[in-house]
Amino acid sequence: MTNQELWQAALGEIELNISKTNFITWFKSTEIVKIKDGAVTVGVPNGFAKEWLENKYNKLILKALRNISPDTKEIEFIIGAFSSPDSGDRPLKLKKKETVLVGQPFQEFEINKETHLNPKYTFDNFIVGSFNELARAAAQGVVKNLGALYNPFFIYGGVGLGKTHLIQAIGNETVRLYKNEKKICYISSEKFTSELVESLYKGQVEEFKNNYRQIDLLIIDDVQFLAGKEKTQEEFFHTFNALYQSNKQIVISSDRPPKAIATLEERLKSRFEGGMIADISFPDFESRLAILKAKVMEKNFQLSEEVLNYLANNIQKNIRELEGALNRLVISEKLSGSSVDIDQVAKILTGINSSPSKKISFKTILQAVAEFYDINTSQLINRCRKKELVYPRQIAMFLMREELKSSFPFIGEKLGGRDHTTVMYACEKLIREVETNESLQQEINLIKEHMYNR
Ligand code: ADP
Ligand code: MG
Repeated sequence: MTNQELWQAALGEIELNISKTNFITWFKSTEIVKIKDGAVTVGVPNGFAKEWLENKYNKLILKALRNISPDTKEIEFIIGAFSSPDSGDRPLKLKKKETVLVGQPFQEFEINKETHLNPKYTFDNFIVGSFNELARAAAQGVVKNLGALYNPFFIYGGVGLGKTHLIQAIGNETVRLYKNEKKICYISSEKFTSELVESLYKGQVEEFKNNYRQIDLLIIDDVQFLAGKEKTQEEFFHTFNALYQSNKQIVISSDRPPKAIATLEERLKSRFEGGMIADISFPDFESRLAILKAKVMEKNFQLSEEVLNYLANNIQKNIRELEGALNRLVISEKLSGSSVDIDQVAKILTGINSSPSKKISFKTILQAVAEFYDINTSQLINRCRKKELVYPRQIAMFLMREELKSSFPFIGEKLGGRDHTTVMYACEKLIREVETNESLQQEINLIKEHMYNR
């Protein structure tokens, strides 16, 4: 048996014992580079994989190897060493590291025009920990038993914790399994609303309805934004029933459980509650570290253990921020050409830390926003609808929502007795914009920095 055959056989066994994601993340690009007197040397692509395999999977690997080759005594992991394909015992060859260019996205993905799915969200790159494993398992169950097992499948959890990733993974996996047999549609509830409004306006409601009723898997993201929109809820209810009655799969995400969505019609709530409800909670430290390590590897990058620990310790409640922080560090290392130390990391992270120890009040937010835009706090509250006031007002609403988790009516009240739907509209709009608009992100980070360092 060649080294390669031995490793393939061992991997086959290892794969059965750990999750697919972990397997792909930690075992891809590994191989046996030599075997001497029962000591097996495994080549791994980088330091993270080395550490992870040594600490987490050493026993498992040893057992798998011993099952096939009983005289295996120990394993050693070595970075960057790869054998030639034809030999087991050649001198070690270093694998060239791939370089990533500054300012370039690491990987570009195109959103599918028909399904609206982004292919980057898969089960394979969804890291599993105790905080999300039930949701992930249920999501996989949905794909295997489309329309039959968990219908509707309702998933809820806080911002940036992987809801969109998971429900899109359901879509992408269904595409993979069923090819063109199933009609799939991913849509945010806001988009659903605006499409409906447009069809009403153009007198094409029937087409709108028919379109949705052809779908085999309908994925609706952020359904909490249907709250308060009666006409949309009405239409959604009928679409829902039509699909449900013909055993079509419906997948829904929300930032809170159905019960807690104010002004969601009772009949919709009870529909949602009739299926499977799963939540994603906050990732524990281990999971945060695992996510960071996986993402660093994806980017072919290296960060010190100290820096990774620092990130995992300081960003606790939001995986998107964790990723954002990582990207910033990568970029700043690329720009400076040297590795960042903890002090620099702390500086780079100011403003994006989602769990600052300091408590702030809505007044602090209003003051910081007013100062930033050079207006008075009273102008944030009064009824003037000038553009240069409306925009800062919306930012203030957004920050109160994000940082204080205040309710929409509370925010409306504090900002001059405005209606909660106005607040909802502002928050929705900014949540969407922040995702894609980098200068807005920076603006908001600066205001936050200001808020927390007052
Ligand atoms: P939500 O919809 O809950 O606000 P997202 O699904 O948009 O959150 O996740 C935010 C970011 O974090 C995305 O880039 C996503 O790929 C990433 N992410 C979230 N959870 C995981 C996970 N378990 N493993 C890997 N990446 C994750
Ligand atoms: Mg989302």
